[in-house]
Amino acid sequence: MSIKIGAEIDVKAISHKMYDLISELYPICRSITGDGVRKTLYYVQQHIPLSIHEVKSGTQVFDWTVPKEWNIRDAYIKNCQGEKIIDFQKLNLHVLNYSIPVRQNVKLEELKQHIITIPDKPDWVPYRTSYYKETWGFCMSHNQMMEMQDPEYEVCIDSTLEDGSLTYGEYFIKGDTEEEVLISCHTCHPSLANDNLAGIALTAFLAQYLSQLKLKYSYRFVFLPGTIGSITWLAQNEVNVNKIQHGLVVTCIGDPGKSHYKKSRRGNADIDKAAIHVLQRSGQDYVIQEFSPYGYDERQYCSPGFNLPVGCFMRSPHGTYPEYHTSADNLDLVKPEYLADSLTKFLAVLNIIDNNNKYINQNPKCEPQLGKRGLYGAIGGQTDTKKRELAMLWVLNMSDGENSLLDIAEKSGLEFDLIKETADTLEKFDLLKIPPNPRV
Ligand code: ZN
Repeated sequence: MSIKIGAEIDVKAISHKMYDLISELYPICRSITGDGVRKTLYYVQQHIPLSIHEVKSGTQVFDWTVPKEWNIRDAYIKNCQGEKIIDFQKLNLHVLNYSIPVRQNVKLEELKQHIITIPDKPDWVPYRTSYYKETWGFCMSHNQMMEMQDPEYEVCIDSTLEDGSLTYGEYFIKGDTEEEVLISCHTCHPSLANDNLAGIALTAFLAQYLSQLKLKYSYRFVFLPGTIGSITWLAQNEVNVNKIQHGLVVTCIGDPGKSHYKKSRRGNADIDKAAIHVLQRSGQDYVIQEFSPYGYDERQYCSPGFNLPVGCFMRSPHGTYPEYHTSADNLDLVKPEYLADSLTKFLAVLNIIDNNNKYINQNPKCEPQLGKRGLYGAIGGQTDTKKRELAMLWVLNMSDGENSLLDIAEKSGLEFDLIKETADTLEKFDLLKIPPNPRV
């Protein structure tokens, strides 16, 4: 069974499972290293047999070094009455991610230098990190900070920053060929539902579904901390990277925004064409973005030394929706219906990628006589007979070993699935053949 949307897959049911996984992962305090990531990957392992990889702190990965491992048990700010006004156990965003440990009494003025708020969104708590500068801090709502009047507060961050390792997860599905499709998501944000958890859930359930199918390509799914994770993965897998023929970075796919596709650095890779084909025919608003060296892990996959054909699929892009990197990116922002819509689009793109063969017309001198082969009726019975005849003519004419089925769909203005179905029929009637080494 190849990738096919429709009766064979209950996207709606899967979207609820995705949402359940997001809800389970939401309370965990993740970062670029540490037990939060391990725990997250353990939850993903309940759905797919992920292999877990640990890379030691201090390992050199291209121009970067795998950082020390950060873990946190508790954090709070207490007022003069000993009441916790900030409690990490209630919301892990309250701690500046990667804060070094601290336990002391601090004057209000000094404490304020360690507090981050968003004045123009005064009820929301920001999400901030300090990975590469050793410091400590708290994030809180602007309104709450404005209420702080005590001369002194007790602050506690019970964290450790020590040599350990960076953790990433990987799942591989062997297809008919060694050539690979890479699907990558980031796993380093704490309680943020759309930015990271939605991508993790989609990647996990997409992998679970694909594992049941017979696929042309092999598929590699990676769950890694943003930036340093993909840099580490590329450094450790450099010899195999040339197997990657297509790839997608999955991020922010659970919010109500319209779909965005950011092209690979190449700009005209098959993955770019497939994603654009799907969005153009989705009947919904969408945005196609040119590549830029700013965003998620496509920055590393598309760095000039690799220049992999990897695009980025999202709904609202990072930084453009008000809830981005705040406590409002929560379980209310993400909805199963948006997850379902994103999953449907991913399946449609991968359906194209996995079936996008090039054929050679076996009767290229003038049109073959379709009527005598019974081909006019072969896929008949449909009301759109004219369209199907047209598809046959297009596929026969353009199948010279150079044009892929997607090229033919684009040129003819017909849907990919119709072109693919037509090619299957013509192949059955010995009018088309896949050349022996189609992708060389
Ligand atoms: Zn983010």
